[in-house]
Amino acid sequence: MNEVLERTAEAIRRNGFEVHVFDTAAQAADFLDAEIDGKFVGLGDSMTLGAMGLYERLLAHNPKVLDPQQGKDHPEFDAIADACWNAEVFLTSVNALAETGEMVNIDGHGNRVAQSIHGHQKVYFVAGRNKIEPTLERAVWRARNIAAPANAKRHGFTTPCVAAGHCCDCSHPDRICNALVVYLHPMMAMEGVVVLIDEDMGL
Ligand code: SF4
Repeated sequence: MNEVLERTAEAIRRNGFEVHVFDTAAQAADFLDAEIDGKFVGLGDSMTLGAMGLYERLLAHNPKVLDPQQGKDHPEFDAIADACWNAEVFLTSVNALAETGEMVNIDGHGNRVAQSIHGHQKVYFVAGRNKIEPTLERAVWRARNIAAPANAKRHGFTTPCVAAGHCCDCSHPDRICNALVVYLHPMMAMEGVVVLIDEDMGL
């Protein structure tokens, strides 16, 4: 068993989250597919969730599943992301986790960070081992210098980090780093479940 993954899982458990650890993304997808049934589900623009095929699998037995990644352009992305506010269950990944138990997300549009802390019955955070850093400081560094530039590139933006390969703290109109959330404990009146995978997943 991956000791770093186990140590991180235990720290997140101590913070009050329910945590499940899987060897493979396929096992994690089976777990989530079995757990989430008959619900209105929203997804938070995640490469990890996309790679797991969760949109298609959950759509087969849940009445409504919305994923902004299904939008064909930015206005449609925003419209789907906003409609996810009414979802009973919300799934997202995180940009980084600390072995000390904190999780970090950075966002440009705000749908992902806002909806991961308010408005749903239950939120699942799904992340691969590559997102784990030793400390919260390093996790924030990863979110800003690894995940954000890679996400800016994925969206086809021309922010300076795309060329530089690290954050330049820009004022570009397409800046995707407008809010940073650190998850410490589950939010009041909302269940928080963390799914960790012993594979490299997402950005
Ligand atoms: S350069 Fe701008 S968009 Fe890129 S990571 Fe830094 S703040 Fe975010």
